[in-house]
Amino acid sequence: MEIACLDLEGVLVPEIWIEFAEKTGIDALKATTRDIPDYDELMTMRLGELAKHKLGLPEIQEVISTLSPLDGAREFIDWLRERFQVVILSDTFYEFAGPLMKQLGYPTLLCHKLGVSAEGQVQSYHIRQPNPKRQSIVAFKSLYYRTIAAGDSYNDTTMLAEADAGILFKSPQNVIEEFPQYPAVHTYEELRVEFLKASNRELSL
Ligand SMILES: [Mg+2]
Repeated sequence: MEIACLDLEGVLVPEIWIEFAEKTGIDALKATTRDIPDYDELMTMRLGELAKHKLGLPEIQEVISTLSPLDGAREFIDWLRERFQVVILSDTFYEFAGPLMKQLGYPTLLCHKLGVSAEGQVQSYHIRQPNPKRQSIVAFKSLYYRTIAAGDSYNDTTMLAEADAGILFKSPQNVIEEFPQYPAVHTYEELRVEFLKASNRELSL
């Protein structure tokens, strides 16, 4: 049996923090690990900004519910789920992803969790485990599943390396050049073809 593992942000939905920063006009929230490499420092800053602007989880989810998956993402994931068991492996938080997962038909999602007070204030964050994407692949392999993984960025590359087959999707040029061992495609049509090629079963489009 085969499991298809997909990254979420940049593959099925836009980068949630960046879109959220644009919708709310809070420029500080546009910072990524490229600007603040220490993830703990970055998240502490983000939670501070949310508190400063009095944005609790209900307000945040309201803004996120106005975001949409990438064009064609819903059709792609429906297509994939007819042919593979599908699991989304993401570094986002359940509370943020919720409104977008609804629009994707609630596929299985493994990601992180926020600590939220009774009043809705986001107080802390809880990373599921170290190196979560790679460890998920290791776990599926221990269940004797064959794994095919697709992602767009550096935080996906250990997952792609651990999987039986890896695919880069909508990756920036520097990632494509640094990881030439993976096929790199940019449209869902091409991604469907790569999943069929990577499968060891006779599947059709
Ligand atoms: Mg991504």
